[in-house]
Amino acid sequence: MIEGARRALARHPTLAGAGGSALALLAYLTVRDPHRPSAPLACPVKLATGLDCPGCGGLRVVHDLLHGDLDAAVHDNPFLLVCGPLLAALVVRSRAGAAMPHNQVLAPRLAYGLAGSAAAWMVVRNLPRWPLKPAVG
Ligand SMILES: [Zn+2]
Repeated sequence: MIEGARRALARHPTLAGAGGSALALLAYLTVRDPHRPSAPLACPVKLATGLDCPGCGGLRVVHDLLHGDLDAAVHDNPFLLVCGPLLAALVVRSRAGAAMPHNQVLAPRLAYGLAGSAAAWMVVRNLPRWPLKPAVG
């Protein structure tokens, strides 16, 4: 089984790199709390504009899930909570499965749909009365 996994990773080095990076990030978020204002990873969109981007709160969502706090994860970024695993599964499936034309990662309609949904999410979450703001502090 280990030899089979080793051969599969050798055939898909991008997946191996992404998987290793994801494991490193999970290990980091297990011990570091991104809710603290002194967290070293800040969003460049938030820093430049003051607006929450579609991904703001993503590290906090992962941290919350690693610590079993689903309520806090929903509060930090419900869009990523739903779309993140879906997008990851689609990318892994497309990279590991059948080849897409022109080396595409996602089908164009799906990619445009996700991009439009992310843009709509960014607008909604920055409305003045939107109740779910990423928790910091
Ligand atoms: Zn952001």
